[in-house]
Amino acid sequence: MPAISPNKPYRVGRSKTGLGLFATKPIKKGTKIVRYFGPLLDCRKKKDDAIENKYLFQLNNRWTIDGSVRENIARYINHACRPNAESDVRPRKRKVYIRAIKKIEPGEEINYDYGTDYFKEYLKPIGCKCDACEKKRKKKRAEARAERLRLKEKAERKAKKKAEKLAKERAELRAKAKQKAKLNGKANGVHLNGNSLNGNSLNGHGATSATGKVLAAKPGIPVRARGGQVVEISAPAPATIANAASPAGLPN
Ligand SMILES: [Zn+2]
Repeated sequence: MPAISPNKPYRVGRSKTGLGLFATKPIKKGTKIVRYFGPLLDCRKKKDDAIENKYLFQLNNRWTIDGSVRENIARYINHACRPNAESDVRPRKRKVYIRAIKKIEPGEEINYDYGTDYFKEYLKPIGCKCDACEKKRKKKRAEARAERLRLKEKAERKAKKKAEKLAKERAELRAKAKQKAKLNGKANGVHLNGNSLNGNSLNGHGATSATGKVLAAKPGIPVRARGGQVVEISAPAPATIANAASPAGLPN
């Protein structure tokens, strides 16, 4: 690392992207921090125009500073999209100063915006690592995470709703089937268990009196049974037939 006078308000140190220039003292807004310097290249000279490196600082159509020399401390200053310093270009004097555009606290890294051309050529392909871009990326990642979570929750809600709907439909179907079975049962009951079919007339036993004795029923004669129901005895009682078959009055 280059030797820097302790009077200077900065030092070279480790940064996220390698080396960087850091404030060691408070730097007021508007202060010239360091000069960006190096040999002047004249693009009209073939030899100068052939030079290519990351530290070229174009002053105007003709002159460019080759800042790749080791003594150029300003070359350690990294780019930032939201910097705390700027390049103050004086084309006529062919000089460039890095100037604070806000108050810089000790320990803070000093940055300036390298400009669109540099950004497009060198930073965009690898992704700018400045705080603002990192923050933007972090925010985007957080948003993407939140969006994924939102979609997942939405899908879960949808699945739950579907399951609930299905369960409800099944319950309704079951209830309907039960209702149908009940109705069928009732209909059968009317035909098979109805009083008309199970009436006393079919049992051949005659009506039962209130005391439980069999009433003396005779064919063709309605008998009023308990409950007021009129029952007609249609068939002769076996005993009567037997009596009729045996000739009355004849000695045995
Ligand atoms: Zn950036």
